[in-house]
Amino acid sequence: MSELTEYTGKATMEKIASLSKRRGFVFQSSEIYGGQNGAWDYGPMGVELKNRIAQFWWKTMTRLHDNIVGIDAAIFMHPRTWEASGHVENFTDPLVDCKKCKARFRADQIPEENLQQKKCPDCGGELTDTRKFNLMFKTNIGAVEDNSNILYLRPETAQGIYVNYKNVIQSSRVKLPFGIAQIGKAFRNEIVTKNFIFRTCEFEQMEMQYFVKPGTDVQWFDKWREERWEYYKKLQVKMDHLRWHQHGPGELAHYAKDAYDIEYLFPMGWRELEGVHNRSDYDLTRHGEFSGKDMQYIDQDDGNKKYTPFIIETSAGLTRNLLMLLCDAYDEEKVADNGNADDIRTVLRFSPFVAPVTVAVLPLMKKDGLAELAQDIRQTLKEDFSTDYDQSGAIGRRYRRQDEIGTPFCVTVDYESKETNTVTLRFRDSMEQKRVPIAELTSRITQEIKDYKRIN
Ligand code: ATP
Repeated sequence: MSELTEYTGKATMEKIASLSKRRGFVFQSSEIYGGQNGAWDYGPMGVELKNRIAQFWWKTMTRLHDNIVGIDAAIFMHPRTWEASGHVENFTDPLVDCKKCKARFRADQIPEENLQQKKCPDCGGELTDTRKFNLMFKTNIGAVEDNSNILYLRPETAQGIYVNYKNVIQSSRVKLPFGIAQIGKAFRNEIVTKNFIFRTCEFEQMEMQYFVKPGTDVQWFDKWREERWEYYKKLQVKMDHLRWHQHGPGELAHYAKDAYDIEYLFPMGWRELEGVHNRSDYDLTRHGEFSGKDMQYIDQDDGNKKYTPFIIETSAGLTRNLLMLLCDAYDEEKVADNGNADDIRTVLRFSPFVAPVTVAVLPLMKKDGLAELAQDIRQTLKEDFSTDYDQSGAIGRRYRRQDEIGTPFCVTVDYESKETNTVTLRFRDSMEQKRVPIAELTSRITQEIKDYKRIN
């Protein structure tokens, strides 16, 4: 596939941020106090979207794989965890500060010439030398603040999986190769400047760690790269906006034997969406050393041989996936030519697998019993779908509102509905409408979700 060099979508970060606020996807954290850098709040639509992405990932990774189980580990972990993992020593960004305007930059993200001339890219002031800055948030547990009770907010969910891998084996009878999946919060003291929720200090990850016999790791690494690519295909994102990026020797994390990122072409360019890493036996070996516990696996299928498994990791940002899906789904389409702002409709072309609302039920009029009938229909659909109900304003405006939050199906109840027990089913992408018997709505929508094919 030839690679896109320029962004071809209609989204800009400004448009995405403005729609997110207008329609309740994402709000600035503590906005009334001027906001909190690096933190964002998810509104009524945002939380639904986030949950549905998480559910889709969870189903794909656990329910569709017999040998992957889930856990939910605590954010607080014993501080030795982070010494063993190498994060205390190595999880750093190179930073420079401007002595004049006090701005802080990641040294690897400003032009080389600014670094060499020690010149601030913002104000031209003098820059400090590059310093290593640890990205982990540190706090203290208990009443006393001293070095003996330091706690780190986890910078990745993975370590909670590694330290539990023996518990999982003993309690669930999984055998190598097997995986452990987890979704949860992670924290990094990032220099956050722009691009909305792309890089935040508090975010969520969807990680799956796959434990394999040494020597089979390369094969499983390839397999998981394939699986993760298929995942985005199933979500029907624009596949020409995805590409692989292999980490060169200088880029590899301290634990990695090999690493590929799936990158997405965001409005600001190609950026990492997810990492697939061969973490070798680094983490388990280190936890064995630091805890004094035996982290080896006893292979009953191979004469009780003992060895430390290799780990293939798939690590996706949940909140970053949400931003990707907003950008990917965003479209503006000309629907009329009257010279009005209304001529363009904004539509989010979410897959029905993740759309925050699957079906909206809209009575054409409030009166004449149409609202009551529509309410009854919604009540029935609620069991199977996430629904919305809207009876106020012109029907065209209500469709537009649903288009803007990415609702794939609208059910409209009109006068004919009362006579014939049918409604119209409106399709978001084509704006086509079809008459469907009320009794068949649930099965029809279920089928439409299965058959959904993105057209733009
Ligand atoms: P970057 O190079 O962008 O800082 P990374 O290579 O450190 O990211 P990983 O440690 O591999 O990222 O994390 C796995 C995934 O977690 C990333 O692909 C991304 O989707 C997500 N992620 C990492 N850091 C952040 C962040 N600060 N905000 C939002 N998502 C993040």
